[in-house]
Amino acid sequence: MRLLLCILLLALAGLPLSAQEPQAMPNPVLGTYGHPQAFWDAGGHLGDYGINAVFIHSGSLDANTVARARAEGAKVFAEFATLNGKQGAYVEQHPEAHPIDDTGSPARPATWFMGVCPTHPGFREYRMAELRELLDRVQLDGVWMDYLHWHAQFEDPYPQFIKTCFNDSCVGAFESSAKVKVEGATAAEKAQWIFMNAAKAWEDWRVSVVVDWAREIHGIVKAKQPNALVGNYQVAWKDEDLGGVRRRCLGLDFEALAPHVDVYSPMIYHGRSGKSPDYVREYVAYFSEKHGVSIEPGTYPKLWPIVQAHDDPRIEPDEFEAVLRHGLIAKSTGVMMFTIGSVAADAGKMAVMKQVYTEATTN
Ligand SMILES: [Zn+2]
Repeated sequence: MRLLLCILLLALAGLPLSAQEPQAMPNPVLGTYGHPQAFWDAGGHLGDYGINAVFIHSGSLDANTVARARAEGAKVFAEFATLNGKQGAYVEQHPEAHPIDDTGSPARPATWFMGVCPTHPGFREYRMAELRELLDRVQLDGVWMDYLHWHAQFEDPYPQFIKTCFNDSCVGAFESSAKVKVEGATAAEKAQWIFMNAAKAWEDWRVSVVVDWAREIHGIVKAKQPNALVGNYQVAWKDEDLGGVRRRCLGLDFEALAPHVDVYSPMIYHGRSGKSPDYVREYVAYFSEKHGVSIEPGTYPKLWPIVQAHDDPRIEPDEFEAVLRHGLIAKSTGVMMFTIGSVAADAGKMAVMKQVYTEATTN
């Protein structure tokens, strides 16, 4: 009798163990970037293509779009243009927020991009108010910061690096942060003094300014919608590329940003930057190892790259297929493409997206 009881107790004790089947990993995030209207107009249904997430510019998000995307099985994320001075024509209407270069002049536009002075208090208030309004207006699965960097251009075949900003707001903020007294009567003289005497401290301070924007955005998103993720669209350059210019000029330090970013979305636009599709594989593997990316459900930061579908230059469907697949290797748990409109315009790209996303859907 006692033996039977022992066997029974052992059997009961073993029950929870036997119930512990290996947990299936959730499906990767199979996303699109851009408003899906062109895809819908082409007769597409998000779920039929395996699409489970849409990333849409905040200004294009409305209740109907959100409802339709969710009804077709997709999560909805907003792209939020952060330090883009053209967004809302802010710099045009507020010239005092135009970043100042090291000659003391308004910095030249970086091809199609125009940054902004990130310490201009009016601009910061304006942008954060926009974010609050967005979060009050639509229920989201996440907000993706975009253009979170100092004025520069990295999305062109020939990148532009411009040293900014030397207006009173930035020089004053640097002085109090670095505890230095910048010498010189003009902005140009002050810039020269900084380069000769405090270049490293200045670069570190520029990183801290970008991080502080991310910190406040992360805080606002979590306060308004605690379950929403905060992601970052970012240049796909390694720490050592071009003499470390990503940190030194753009002010982007992924370790410093880590506390405020749930998901990294490097923009690995191979065609635009004159690289082969294999570069996507190389960068995803690099980033996975370098930046402590997590593949465990519910733990962060995660890695969901964005790859190029847009024909600039021409991206053939098989090339698009390759970069989509490369975008899901190593510790990546998601992928999306720039843009869904470019896919919708090309039957070959529609077919490969459907194939890759359907194959990647395991449950
Ligand atoms: Zn400034």
